[in-house]
Amino acid sequence: MTVVTRFAPSPTGFLHIGGARTALYNWLYARHTGGTFLLRIEDTDRKRSTDAAIEAIFDSLRWLGLDWDGEPLFQFARAERHAEVAQALIAAGKAYPCYCTPDELTAMREKARAEGRPVRYDGTWRDRDPADAPAGASPAIRLKSPQEGETVIRDLVQGDVTIANAQLDDMILLRSDGTPTYMLAVVVDDHDMGVSHVIRGDDHLTNAARQIQLFEAMDWPSPTFAHIPLIHGPDGAKMSKRQGAVGAEAYRDMGFLPEAMQNYLLRLGWGHGDDEIIPLEQAVAWFDLSGVGKSPARFDMDKLTALNLHYMKQADDQRLARLTAVHLEEVIGRPLGDDDIAVLARAMPSMKERAKTLVELAQNATFLFRPRPLEFDAKASKILNPDTSALLLDLQPHLAALDGWSADVLEAAVRAFAEERELGLGKVAQPLRAALTGGTVSPPIFDVLDVFGRDESLARLDDAVARFS
Ligand code: GLU
Repeated sequence: MTVVTRFAPSPTGFLHIGGARTALYNWLYARHTGGTFLLRIEDTDRKRSTDAAIEAIFDSLRWLGLDWDGEPLFQFARAERHAEVAQALIAAGKAYPCYCTPDELTAMREKARAEGRPVRYDGTWRDRDPADAPAGASPAIRLKSPQEGETVIRDLVQGDVTIANAQLDDMILLRSDGTPTYMLAVVVDDHDMGVSHVIRGDDHLTNAARQIQLFEAMDWPSPTFAHIPLIHGPDGAKMSKRQGAVGAEAYRDMGFLPEAMQNYLLRLGWGHGDDEIIPLEQAVAWFDLSGVGKSPARFDMDKLTALNLHYMKQADDQRLARLTAVHLEEVIGRPLGDDDIAVLARAMPSMKERAKTLVELAQNATFLFRPRPLEFDAKASKILNPDTSALLLDLQPHLAALDGWSADVLEAAVRAFAEERELGLGKVAQPLRAALTGGTVSPPIFDVLDVFGRDESLARLDDAVARFS
């Protein structure tokens, strides 16, 4: 059997990380099995669905590298097809019109509650003669669900879940205004799209029983279900915004690399032995639904951050520079050109080990783009004075005369200079750093000199000497 999975978000808000994880698992399962991964936008809630949310879903999926096969399918556009299936069920005697008014339904519910019975549709119109229909009223269409026996969801994660049919009332397929319900739309679309595996959050588990009844009523094979436990906050309770219940794109904005997010989401509910670092290609090779855990995962920002650190160290410097530039432009308030990005890329080997996120990396890199003459912060201004300026002035020809200009060569020269003056290295390095960066915090000073290059470094020394002597 060829595997067809689908991700079916409702575009009513951002793509939260639970949704992103569902998308990842569907994508991985399809890629692992050589199957197909489809995208379906469940936009039938016209009031709450927005174009911005649809764009955010596309954006987040692209950022995470989860490419879908073919064009996305929009559910609302298929309303006629959904209605057609409801009519077919009526024709087959498996669905029926229900003329209950909202008031009657409310009374039904209240009566059930008063008698301590579960609140369910009581089947008023199930076997009633449609000739009894009140004139001019438009009915809802309900499924004639089996009233005896049980429906079993053979779930690849949850195991067999059995639900007594008596617990499920005759659900509405088409509302009295003719619009399809979620249950109908999902089943018809999953069938028409040839979906073989439905992988989604376990908040949909009870829906699966109703959906199976509908598949059976249509004599369609049910897909295989895999309901994944939800993601909880670090405290085990429902996740709050502060704990991470924000859109997936918020993690991009916080400076996480997509591969760190992929790896994190993968491990958040799926495991392969003790492996923690699992790049996407490896995940494609390993992923199987049998590795999905049964208990809710807890969101852990520290783990995500640790993975980000790992992937930042591994990342190609050019790519990292381009990704950092996006954040840096925000900090320094101007666009960065190719030359700037080249500077940033040169600084990456020494900088990327020192930041947990791209945002932090960008903040650490701002010194590279401060315009000359530099503004010196309070600490740098304290370090730079006539004495240290004189020292820098003496150091300058030693640097200018160097054959090469690399961190190693520079370090050797500055060390030799400090020894000759019988000074600790710090006594020279501190003013050097202040003069070059305008501050007191930077990557190792020899890396900084290396990144700036000879001309720029010497010019900055000139500036500082002129200003502080
Ligand atoms: N649209 C549903 C949701 O966003 C998912 C439906 C499904 O996966 O079957 O929760």
